[in-house]
Amino acid sequence: MGWYSWWRQLLGGDTAGAGKGRPPEPDAENTAEYKTPAAIALDAGRHSLRVGVVTTTGNVREHNEDNFFVPGIHTAGTAADRAPAVEIAGGGQILAKGNADPASDGPAGLFLVADGMGGQLAGEKASEMAVEIIPAELRRRLGGSEDDKTILRAIRDGVAEANQEILAQSHLVTEYANMGTTVVLLLFRGDRAFVAGIGDSRAYRLREDRIERLTKDHSLADALVGAGTIRPDEAENHKFKNVLYLYLGSKDARDGPEEIRSLDVRPGDRYLLASDGLTGVVRDDVITQMLREIEDPQQAAQALVNRALENRSKDNITCVVIHVDGPDSPR
Ligand code: CA
Repeated sequence: MGWYSWWRQLLGGDTAGAGKGRPPEPDAENTAEYKTPAAIALDAGRHSLRVGVVTTTGNVREHNEDNFFVPGIHTAGTAADRAPAVEIAGGGQILAKGNADPASDGPAGLFLVADGMGGQLAGEKASEMAVEIIPAELRRRLGGSEDDKTILRAIRDGVAEANQEILAQSHLVTEYANMGTTVVLLLFRGDRAFVAGIGDSRAYRLREDRIERLTKDHSLADALVGAGTIRPDEAENHKFKNVLYLYLGSKDARDGPEEIRSLDVRPGDRYLLASDGLTGVVRDDVITQMLREIEDPQQAAQALVNRALENRSKDNITCVVIHVDGPDSPR
């Protein structure tokens, strides 16, 4: 949930924070889901990856303001024109909008999750712009380069460009006023992986059974922890937990991500990109266990989303799970 929802709750008198008040009744009709029919195998530079994706409107929301990008497939499209999910044999669904050519709309090895905020369709528009503009900008700016400096600059400038365009639309179009979105990005390039985030969508890495959170949340509650005003354990249910001080579509994000991490990549590494619909209700130790124990990334993404729904997440939920295969891994 972003700042807009928080204000809407506040003004509507519904100030129950996460974990407080009466939990919402799950609504089966509102859990529209988009997922890949099975894990997708991808070659990104020197690494073979398997990827699973699930995004769902969730228990209570009317729209899914989350969007994702995985090479060859993304959820871009507002509610009105979003391609319907197509049923396939076996009960799975595949996005009708998925692109058969993984390299046609973004660099191989790029993964994004964006969680939009704003009234009406504005949130969906902002997250849609993020998952369309950033892959296109990165593709254009990266070329074939595997040089760290070029990659870092491409990520910074590509994200800054998306920020600029979202800001411009929010100024130009009344119904998009004040729209914004989080973004979390993972790019495999050469023998390294690059991670950056703006907002409170997160990236995690599981390595040797231990999980590491790779991005920091840009919420006011986390800023208060940083300033020593509140304790870390007070932040989780703090009234400012869902108020972001940094997001795409804000002047403060004009220079792109504050930090871009460059990581070594090892066979066996597992990554998760997720919106706060997951991380707000599923603890890190549960995420660790599921990422570690479930061998298929699509099943892992589904199990994580299911757990968030069971835990009465009130938000849209998106999970992208990426496994870095070793030479002996199943393909
Ligand atoms: Ca959210």
